[in-house]
Amino acid sequence: MKTILPGTTASGQQTTLGVMGGGQLGRMFVHAAQSMGYFTAVLDPDPASPAGLVSHFHIQTDYLDEQGLAQMMQRCAAITTEFENVPAPALRTLGAQRVVAPGADAVAIAQDRSLEKAHFVRCGVPCAPYAVIESAEQLRAVRDALLPGILKTARLGYDGKGQIRVNTRAELNSAWAQLKSVPCVLEQMLPLASECSVIVARGADGTVVNFPPQLNLHRDGILAVTQVFDGNLPTALAEKAVSAAVAIANGLDYVGVLCVEFFLLQQGSAAAKELGTLVVNEIAPRPHNSGHYTIDACDQSQFDLQVRTLVHLPLVQPRQHSPAIMLNLLGDLWLRSGEEAVTPPWSEVLALPGTTLQLYGKLQARRGRKMGHLNITAADAAQARATALRAAELLGMAPF
Ligand code: ATP
Ligand code: MG
Repeated sequence: MKTILPGTTASGQQTTLGVMGGGQLGRMFVHAAQSMGYFTAVLDPDPASPAGLVSHFHIQTDYLDEQGLAQMMQRCAAITTEFENVPAPALRTLGAQRVVAPGADAVAIAQDRSLEKAHFVRCGVPCAPYAVIESAEQLRAVRDALLPGILKTARLGYDGKGQIRVNTRAELNSAWAQLKSVPCVLEQMLPLASECSVIVARGADGTVVNFPPQLNLHRDGILAVTQVFDGNLPTALAEKAVSAAVAIANGLDYVGVLCVEFFLLQQGSAAAKELGTLVVNEIAPRPHNSGHYTIDACDQSQFDLQVRTLVHLPLVQPRQHSPAIMLNLLGDLWLRSGEEAVTPPWSEVLALPGTTLQLYGKLQARRGRKMGHLNITAADAAQARATALRAAELLGMAPF
């Protein structure tokens, strides 16, 4: 395995790293790669994509466009992905000629909730009881125990999209019709106490490193707040979550940054008695929104590790040097006083110690759209919380 170092290549080009997808995750990958001296190329059809705007090269084609893929292979020594809905066949095409991480097979599993859940079962990590629904017959055969539940499309869901909560069989039937009878997974609705995630980075040589478990608060199916400091989760649970995430990454023979999302069930609930307190929800084959705090609170960010896994540089266990809280900044914060977008009070927010603002360069604020995030670091967790709560108040976000 050759290390792909930054600098001028034999043909006089600059070593270039590529990313499939031009969203905010691609933008932060581009920033990390560029800060290490690499050139970058982004493939995304949107001329105003957040990553395309900051990359040396922006190839504006569809993900499966042959010419677009050919240009990526011509420019790039290695290619990663920032968006799990990049078609696996595109990664397969690229992977035949270039270093691609994560690989198409792992991404294909993460793209499909049925395959993903089967992988959890294989790894011996408990997940929500579920049924695959791909036919009217499978719909009829659903066990009563799965209701109330959440019907989720097997593919292409994000931020709670493509999901319908159902209480009865009648609701299940009409929900499946509403989702156009595409392949779905019905999950039992679990009594959540909270949610957490673990981000691991795994190298091509099998080395795995991890960030500490992140405690996540979702609102309306979208991540709102991530808190990471000693004591955010009971130690035994945190350790269990890390080993489960490592087992899932190893089981995929994964190369790259992987996020594993977990549910923490209410203690004493029937589901917790059956499944245990920690239940895996889903994986994302890329850096994750719950890992943005690593940019300011750790000696290496999740995007730095994405670069290292891609180019085969050494993976060293990252160290979190400050307690951290991340507030996700959704378009709603711009639209507080009606439909006319108003800039949030950044000066007041940034007057608070330990706050750093990252905005993704999206031109238009829409409700539920991820516009940026605010990281808060402090010497101790209590101070981080106090500052984060004050920032939330200034921004008009509900306390947590
Ligand atoms: P993203 O990719 O943005 O994380 P998603 O669209 O893939 O989101 P999920 O992670 O499946 O969606 O679900 C979104 C949220 O809905 C979860 O974080 C959790 O709060 C809630 N949820 C999902 N499944 C269940 C379940 N089986 N029981 C209880 N709550 C659930
Ligand atoms: Mg999720």
